[in-house]
Amino acid sequence: MPLHDKFGRQITDLRISVTDRCNFRCVYCRSADPENHVDSRELLTWAELERLARVLAGLGIRKVRVTGGEPLVRDGVEDFIAALRRLGFADISATTNGHLLAERCDRLVRAGLDRVNISLDSLDAGKFQRITRTRSLGKVMAGVDAAQASPLRPVKVNAVLVRGINDDEIEAFAEFARERDLTMRFIEFMPLDADRHWTRELVVPAAEVKRRIEARWKLEEIPHERSETARKFRFADGRGEIGLVAPVTQPFCGFCSRIRLTADGKLRTCLFSKEDRDLKSRVRNGASDAELACYIQSVVEEKEEGHRINEPDFVPPSRTMVFIGG
Ligand code: SAM
Repeated sequence: MPLHDKFGRQITDLRISVTDRCNFRCVYCRSADPENHVDSRELLTWAELERLARVLAGLGIRKVRVTGGEPLVRDGVEDFIAALRRLGFADISATTNGHLLAERCDRLVRAGLDRVNISLDSLDAGKFQRITRTRSLGKVMAGVDAAQASPLRPVKVNAVLVRGINDDEIEAFAEFARERDLTMRFIEFMPLDADRHWTRELVVPAAEVKRRIEARWKLEEIPHERSETARKFRFADGRGEIGLVAPVTQPFCGFCSRIRLTADGKLRTCLFSKEDRDLKSRVRNGASDAELACYIQSVVEEKEEGHRINEPDFVPPSRTMVFIGG
């Protein structure tokens, strides 16, 4: 029985956060405190994650994205991806900060990963350090190279734009997409940062990004599925694509097909859900697969109509991006 919510949306996409730990501390995401993560006993084991993935496959989930935290810092992620492959998902992707990608790319491909999104918020070493609080730009670039040299396709590079920090690099990122023949995605900053610094003024609207790129290069829109997060464009005169992800200024909730499983076993029906639903206690207290499926269906049924970032009564979610899994 496929998963539907009460607004008629079919849920086919699952994001699984496999850890809340990360080797970066991006200013728009998590605090500087390296100890800010849950105890590892709170995390679902690989076997528990695999079981929930199997139950969700039975409920019609077709696409799975493995994320975190930083998914590559948890040992065993390749075996988990291989297990997802055996479960028959049509599309298996990962989101990574790229730090460990060059050394792990071959293993990820062998495990059955289809594609990868790599976060890269600046092409300038000093600014990269200011944003991520690491000196890893070279390693991330090596990760991009390794992904492009591998069968992983498409390779997408994600930049979260924050006004006054990296919005001066929009054209440089576009050049990067053209030179490297990859998809550069610009993501609007959302109120999910641990330090609660988000303000509307810090958001760089996707329309501004498009205007600035179009001032230099002609873009052609690429048709996309309505449930996809990005509007996509190719450069009319050559290689490379851009994607605009505009959850703040152009919300796409009406066609959302996603749910999220957090590393500590909570089901979230929206990035901005006020509450998450506990699957871990059910798994650990002996619920059968049928009982889990029934519970998941009842939670998904109540998926929020949309986030309320633009409403006067908006309350940021209790959990920030790093605990939810982007
Ligand atoms: N560690 C991996 C990475 O860096 O890609 C995966 C997890 S990260 C939370 C997933 C995505 O969420 C990244 O593309 C990151 O840039 C994005 N992200 C984190 N905080 C965000 C925020 N406040 N607004 C928009 N995107 C955010």
